[in-house]
Amino acid sequence: MTEKGINQFDQKQQNTWLVKKHLYLNSPISRVEIAHNLGLTTPVITGIITPLLAEGVVRERETREADSSTGAGRRRVMLEFNPESHYACGVDLGPYYTNYVLTDLCGKPVAQRQTSRTLDEYGTTIQQLSRQIPDFLAECGVAQEKVLGVGIAMPGLINGSEGKVYTTFKEGWTQRDPAAELQQRIGIPVMVENNVRAKVIGAEMFDRMVHAQPFAYLSVFYGIACQMIIDNKVLYGSSAAAGEIGHMVVQRGGPFCVTCGNRGCLEALSGERAVLTRCREIMALEPGCLLWKLCSAPEDLTIDMVLQAQNLGDDYVGDVMQDALDYLGIALANVVNLLSPSMVVIDGRMFALQRNQNYLLRAAERNMFRVQAHKVQFTFLPYDPYRGARAGAAVVIKHYLHEG
Ligand SMILES: [Zn+2]
Repeated sequence: MTEKGINQFDQKQQNTWLVKKHLYLNSPISRVEIAHNLGLTTPVITGIITPLLAEGVVRERETREADSSTGAGRRRVMLEFNPESHYACGVDLGPYYTNYVLTDLCGKPVAQRQTSRTLDEYGTTIQQLSRQIPDFLAECGVAQEKVLGVGIAMPGLINGSEGKVYTTFKEGWTQRDPAAELQQRIGIPVMVENNVRAKVIGAEMFDRMVHAQPFAYLSVFYGIACQMIIDNKVLYGSSAAAGEIGHMVVQRGGPFCVTCGNRGCLEALSGERAVLTRCREIMALEPGCLLWKLCSAPEDLTIDMVLQAQNLGDDYVGDVMQDALDYLGIALANVVNLLSPSMVVIDGRMFALQRNQNYLLRAAERNMFRVQAHKVQFTFLPYDPYRGARAGAAVVIKHYLHEG
């Protein structure tokens, strides 16, 4: 092929992806609107859409709009993806649970399951998943040929676009290819992605949240990460470690971080694990602490109990949360100063309390370069235990639209 030929091929692929994504994010929409919005001609749009209509992946819907000049109804043909044409399975493999979701092509969950299994050593986890995934799909009752694939969202340095696991914090995962191994065992395409990067893709594809860029997604749970979409691309960095702000050092000589082995990482100061560790220390020292009324043994303490104690006005717990949020505010300000994002979405159980949301934003603003302060839109997401699993499905669907 000549160089010109290759370029034309690339251009066609690029246009196909742009049209599919635009239709996905804006449906129902007419051919003329897609052409207008993307600066393409309607024959180009028709050329891309016709095979999708033939496959039943996209469908037409007629609407009638009142025409003020004639009083007659004007017929418009709108396009939309057919949600029931395909399904995707998402798995959130985390430190607290493993959740499964099946969504339709448009991201609506049609089935979900929670198990108490957590991310474990490689062989054990692969064995679990190769039993649980087919079992879950069988329970869903959707024909296997309609399932595009399984997207596994998990913590670690993972490049989902290359199927590569650099490392995770559990034994045996380094340099493995779990996607290929699982695919071979269960006979369905499998993709693996870093959990917070998957959530960015979920926010983009399913929740249509990315209206302006750079777009950042700050996730504060057991660990902390901030993943980004910049110039329409999810950022991976050179070893898939982009966005791992949980291991940014914010306190010299601070507490030891069990994940990375450094001291004073954000995760060791502000993550749920850090908050729980400090609250357990307080329980050991302060018999009058309210946490004892909610929990009879420090090892059973959960972040929900901590939030409950904070909400009831426990001063010890209030101080722990303020400390955690002070450091998180510094990190958030640094993210804003580095990227100048248009929007930062913040996801974390500790923000179930409005006062924690307010405190974090005040802490961030104190540390932010002043020109930034009023230009960034901060949005807190309500806690959803199935968001990660749904995001795994979004990874599969985005890949299907891009490659399929
Ligand atoms: Zn660390």
